[in-house]
Order: sequence, then C-alpha cells, then structure tokens
Amino acid sequence: MLDYTHDDWKSRAAALSLRNKAFIDGQFVDAASGATFDCINPATGEILTQVASCDEEDVNRAVGAARKAFDSGVWSRAAPEDRKAVLLKLAELIRANLEEMALLDSLDMGKLVTDAVTVDAPGSAHFFQWHAEAIDKIYDEVAPNAPGDLAIVKRVPLGVVGAVTPWNFPLDMATWKGAAALAAGNSVVLKPAEQSPLSALRLAELAAEAGVPDGVFNVVPGFGVTAGKALGLHMDVDTLAFTGSTQVGKIFMQYSGQSNLKSVWPETGGKSPNLVFGDCKNLDAAANMAAFGIFFNQGEVCSANSRLYVERSVKDELVEKLIERAAALQPGDPLDPASKMGAIVDQRQTDGIMQSIEAGKATSNLVAGGERVSVNGKGCFVQPTIFDDVDHNDPLARDEIFGPVLSIIPFDKEEDAVRMANDSVYGLAASVWTDDLSRALRVSDELQVGTVSVNTVDALSAKTPFGGMKQSGFGRDLSLHSFDKYTALKTTWIKYNA
Ligand code: NAD
Repeated sequence: MLDYTHDDWKSRAAALSLRNKAFIDGQFVDAASGATFDCINPATGEILTQVASCDEEDVNRAVGAARKAFDSGVWSRAAPEDRKAVLLKLAELIRANLEEMALLDSLDMGKLVTDAVTVDAPGSAHFFQWHAEAIDKIYDEVAPNAPGDLAIVKRVPLGVVGAVTPWNFPLDMATWKGAAALAAGNSVVLKPAEQSPLSALRLAELAAEAGVPDGVFNVVPGFGVTAGKALGLHMDVDTLAFTGSTQVGKIFMQYSGQSNLKSVWPETGGKSPNLVFGDCKNLDAAANMAAFGIFFNQGEVCSANSRLYVERSVKDELVEKLIERAAALQPGDPLDPASKMGAIVDQRQTDGIMQSIEAGKATSNLVAGGERVSVNGKGCFVQPTIFDDVDHNDPLARDEIFGPVLSIIPFDKEEDAVRMANDSVYGLAASVWTDDLSRALRVSDELQVGTVSVNTVDALSAKTPFGGMKQSGFGRDLSLHSFDKYTALKTTWIKYNA
C-alpha cells in the first residue's frame, strides 16, 4: 500500500462499499425513526453516504441488547483466553482490511490516507492485540489475612459500557475504548462522532466476523444531543467512557448525576506546551518534532504541542527552521501520497480555526501560513500557521484551537517557562527539549500534565497510560490501567476452620 499512487487510492476509494446503518445486536439496522444524516468528505464537500441517525429509541435498543448479552454470560463469563482468541482474530481482520479502514477515516474526516494506513489502522490492530494478550495475564488478589479468613479480591466486568468518541482519530478512539472494555468482558454501546461514523461501523462488522457475540459490541451513529445524551442519561449504562471536548466532558458528568451515578471517564481537551531550552544541541530535531507536534493530523490532536516556549538565546534560529518546515507541509488531497497535510474535518471547525487566526493577526506576529486554501478548487483546508512573539495571555496561547496553529512564546528563565506552561486550565501533555538530564527530570517533575515527552513529542504506546490532569480530564486509555475503568473490585470473604 505504501507504493500506491494517487490514482490507486482514488480508484480504491470509489470501489468502497460504505456501511451506513446502526449496528445493534449483531445486525445492521435503520434508525427506528428512519432518520439519516449526510456523511460529508471535507476534502471535496461531496456526500459520501447517508448514515442512520440514532436517537433515544435506538440507544434503548442497543443498551437492551448489550445488557441481555452481558447477563447471558456468553462473553462476560467466557474464559479470558477465549475472549483473547476472538480479539486477536479481530486484530488480524483489521490488518487484512487495513487499506479499507484507512480509507474510511481519510474520506470521513480528511486525514492523509498515508497516515491512516501507517499509523491509525495498524495502531487499531495493535491495540486490540495488546489488550487481548494482556487479559489472560492479570491475576486477582488474596488479602493477607490470618488463617481462617480467606478474602479474594477479584476484578469483574462492569456490565454495559457506553463509549462516546471524537472525530480526530475515529478508528483509534473507538479502539482505545472498545479493546479494553471488551477484553475485560463488558458489552459496549459506542457512539462515534457524527463527523466520522464509518470506520466504527465497519469495525463492529469485523468484530462480529471475529466471533464477538451478538449484542456485545453495538454502534449507534448519531448526534451528541440525541444519541450521545441518551447514552449519558441511560439508567442501565454502568460506565461512560468519553473522549472529546472539555465542555462536553462536563455535560457527561452532569448526565451521570441526573441519572444512575454511572462512573464517567472524561478524556478531554488540551493546549500542550513544548519547552525548548537553549542547551538543546539538536535544534533540527527539535524543529522537526515541534512541527510534527502541531501539524500532524492538521493539528487536530488533543495533545498537539500548540504552545512553543523557547529560550530567547535559540529562538530566532528555531523560528527560522520552523518557518521552513511549515512551508514544506502545505495541504493537499488526502488521497495523494505526495500531500503533507490533509483537510480540516468540516466547515464549522474550519471557520473556528480561521476566527482564531484572524484574531491572532491583530495581536501577534504571523510568520507562516494564516490562510484558508482549497485543493482542486474544493474543500476545507488551512495552511500550517505560526505566530511568533505571542503574549502568554493571548487567546492564541490559551484556547484549544484544534487546528494547525502554533504560538511561539519566548522565555529567559527555566522557572518562567515552567510557570507559563502550567498556567493553563488544561494538563494533557508536554514536551521538553534539553541536553541537561537534571533539568529534564526537574522540569518533568514540575509540569502538571499526564505525559511529559523529553527530546521527542507525543510519546505514546499501548504500554503506557494516556490521559491528563486538570480540565483535560482524568480518564486513562491504554496500558493495564485502562482496565480500571471497565472493571469493579469485588471481595468475597470466606470463613473456614483453620
Ligand atoms: P466534542 O466534545 O464536540 O464531541 C465528542 C463526542 O461527544 C461526539 O461523539 C459528539 O457527538 C458527542 N457530544 C457532543 N455534544 C454532546 C452532548 N451535549 N451530549 C452528549 N454527547 C455529545 O469533541 P470533538 O469536536 O468531536 O473532538 C475534539 C475534542 O476532543 C478536542 O477538545 C480534543 O482535545 C478532544 N480529544 C481528547 C482526547 C484525549 O484523549 N484527551 C483525544 C482526542 C480528542
């Protein structure tokens, strides 16, 4: 696939058959109301298909099917090695359909197909495999009691997991929730973002093919205020895993309070700082990764390094390198392997990004990009954009823009850089560039974020937890810690004659 030409990708995209119905109890079904919504390719403005628009009635059906499957024990009480075998098969099926999964996300939300086929789709297979392989290696506990008292502490699946996901990594966000929740023995009802439902629907079909029983994995496409709200308020959903904006994460906490006190796991927005110190010898690497950190996936990354704090002694040199990198990353057709950046997810997001850029032009020094562009006369595209000498208190440096917009802020002292980096409502991730090990460790200790990447950006793996602090939310995906969200601790205490 890496040698596919633009025409190869275009002809494969044209040949796709798109799943556009809800997936409930092992079947593709229309929304009970018959309603649909347009699924639009942001690179062209064309309607890809019309997708079932689920509402409360469909969510009730899906939760009912999930509960019935859970109570039957067909999955929830299956031996961990049996669930493992099914999820490993699912990982293999994703690999066998890599090209299709990559195309679905690229067409749906505008990301480069070359990224989707090398990062997102293999990532999904890997995360399913990792969680599958983990699940039969986790032991329960026996409390250190005196003879005569045997207390067994087990992790048990919770029941019905509601999962609500964003559009920036559609397949991977569905996977980060689904892989851990399913491996732990739960039933899942997933509501993908309305901008990007296609890969989740195909994933559900592949899961069924792999042997996930009917009702265990359901997908209800639809809008936040209909399907998302119904899931959040549902009295029979046991836990709600949410990835999306901070604003909507707060609403999910309210839904819980208004309904059955389900646990809610918000993984929300970010405005991640990248701190480059003057002692960093490899400024080329720092520039490459700073550009990657803000321009990968069009900047539509929760942990995007959108604030660059750079020590004044190296600022001019670094800014020059970044301007060069930005010039080389102009947007193009997401299906063209030569393109360096894809389309913004939709018109609304593009308008929001452009509003931030226009406001920034009045307050800061625009040194790269700053314009909306079209590709082949169509689509939602924004140039990689850099503002220099941004005031730390300017909205450019405070608000999550969720687009390819970098704000550069100079500093003179380490403590100033750390203070400004921490002066944010968000706390998802941060990067630090320095050749001084003590400084790397000291600054990492001081940064109030979930992940610090030193001499790299966005360090991430299945083996380490991903999530934030402060208003970036407290949910964690990936690693063995992800099972904490989807299991309850249960004690059985036995008295016996010692
Ligand atoms: P969003 O909050 O608008 O939507 C996320 C999901 O919530 C969608 O499925 C949407 O339909 C649903 N939703 C929206 N309003 C709702 C409501 N009132 N009730 C119930 N459901 C509702 O976010 P988005 O625009 O899809 O995604 C971008 C955001 O996601 C950014 O803030 C980004 O930082 C965040 N994000 C965070 C992480 C993380 O791991 N922390 C990862 C990726 C994205």
